[in-house]
Amino acid sequence: MWGEEELPPTWAELIRAQSGDLLLFVAFAALVLIGFRRKSIPIKIATLVASVLYLGLYKSELISVVNVFGLLTWNLPILQYSLGWYLFATFTLVSTVLWGRLYCGRMCAFGALTQLIDQVVPRRWRYQIPLRIERRVNYIKYGILAATLSYFFATKDIAAFRYVEPFWMFTGRGTTPLWIAVGVLLVASVFVSNLYCRLLCPTGAFLGIVSNLAVFRIKRWSECKTCRICEKACEWGAIDGARIIQSECVRCDVCEQLYANEKKCPHHIILIRKADIMARRSVAPTAQAVP
Ligand code: SF4
Ligand code: SF4
Repeated sequence: MWGEEELPPTWAELIRAQSGDLLLFVAFAALVLIGFRRKSIPIKIATLVASVLYLGLYKSELISVVNVFGLLTWNLPILQYSLGWYLFATFTLVSTVLWGRLYCGRMCAFGALTQLIDQVVPRRWRYQIPLRIERRVNYIKYGILAATLSYFFATKDIAAFRYVEPFWMFTGRGTTPLWIAVGVLLVASVFVSNLYCRLLCPTGAFLGIVSNLAVFRIKRWSECKTCRICEKACEWGAIDGARIIQSECVRCDVCEQLYANEKKCPHHIILIRKADIMARRSVAPTAQAVP
C-alpha cells in the first residue's frame, strides 16, 4: 500500500538471488583445490583456462591493489549484495594463509593467461633471469605496492590502479596508450615467463607478504641443500637451495612433483641405491656358502 515502508530482503532472498554467482565460484574453487591436492597437470591447465574464461572474460573480477587499499581502510563492498565477491576474497585470503600464493598460481586470470602463454611458447625462446639478479629485481613489486598505496592514501584516486595493474584488459575498456603497454607486457611475457607476476604485481607482493604466515609449507629433503634440480626448475625464482622463498612461491607444483619423483630426485635415488647395496650384501655370504 502507498506510504508503507518496503522491507529489506531477507538473507534467504539475498542468497537465492545470488545463488548462480555463488555456485559458479564454488565450482571454480573446487577445481582449484582438486588440482592442487592431486598435483594434476591436466586439472591445473583446466583451472587456468577456467580462470581466464570465468574470472577474466566472464566476470572481469580479480583481486586488485584497490582491494588491498579497501581492506586497509575498511572500505569494502556491501556484504548483502556482494556475497560472491566476499566468498572469492575470503577464499583468496584463507588459501594464502593456509598454503601461500595459491591465488597467483592458479586463480588470477592475468597470471593464468601468462602461464598458458608459457605452455604454448617453445622453452628455447625463454630468457631465464639469473637467480642473483632475480633476487634483487623481485623487490620492485614491493616498491610498486608501497608507492601505489601511498598514492591512494594521499589522493583517494583509486582509478590510477590501471597504471600498475593490467587487469582492466579483461573488461575490454582501455585507452590506446594502456593497450600498447599491455601488448608490450604480454609480448615480454613470451620471453620472460610470468614477468609481471614475478617482478611487478603489487597484489602479488601483498599476497607474498601474507603468505609468510602459511601453515602448510612445501616439504624439502636434507639433500636439497646441495642438489639444485628444483631450484633450476622453479620458474618463479622461489627456491634457494633447501629453502623455499615463501613470498615468491605460487604453489605451482613443479618442485613438489620432483620431490616425490623416485626417478629424478636424488633423495629417492640414494635411498634406492643404499637398499640395493644392502640387499646384495645380505645375499653375497649365502651365495658363497653354496659348495
Ligand atoms: S602476481 Fe599479480 S598478476 Fe600475477 S597471478 Fe598474482 S595477482 Fe595475478
Ligand atoms: S617450483 Fe616449488 S617453490 Fe617454485 S613456485 Fe613452484 S611450488 Fe613454489
